[in-house]
Amino acid sequence: MSKPKHITLDRKNQRLIIQWADGSTCDYALNVLREACPCADCRGGHANMGKPPDIDSLLVIPLVRTKSYEMTSLEPVGHYAVKPTWSDGHDAGIYTWPYLRELCDGLEAHAGKDNRYRPIGE
Ligand SMILES: [Zn+2]
Repeated sequence: MSKPKHITLDRKNQRLIIQWADGSTCDYALNVLREACPCADCRGGHANMGKPPDIDSLLVIPLVRTKSYEMTSLEPVGHYAVKPTWSDGHDAGIYTWPYLRELCDGLEAHAGKDNRYRPIGE
């Protein structure tokens, strides 16, 4: 399993950049990460926890924002995950390496098949 070598929170550009031990890099828009929050509340119940993220729904940014897309801190959880805290206080999401990897692959596949998609801020 691939693990991150470096994780960079780029607050200015509202992105999280993960460099993996295998040499690949993933670059996530913070709003996409927040929409992908894997906690039971955000997933709509425990039954949906652990399911792969639905990329299409992540890229629909609601007009009325009910969540913060600003990450105030990012803490390691053991050696298997990170836990962001968002500026509205939400910190229940544990993002494991496989989950982040899956999200990254999904976003890349999506960008490849639909070139109208551009990450926020580009
Ligand atoms: Zn959540």
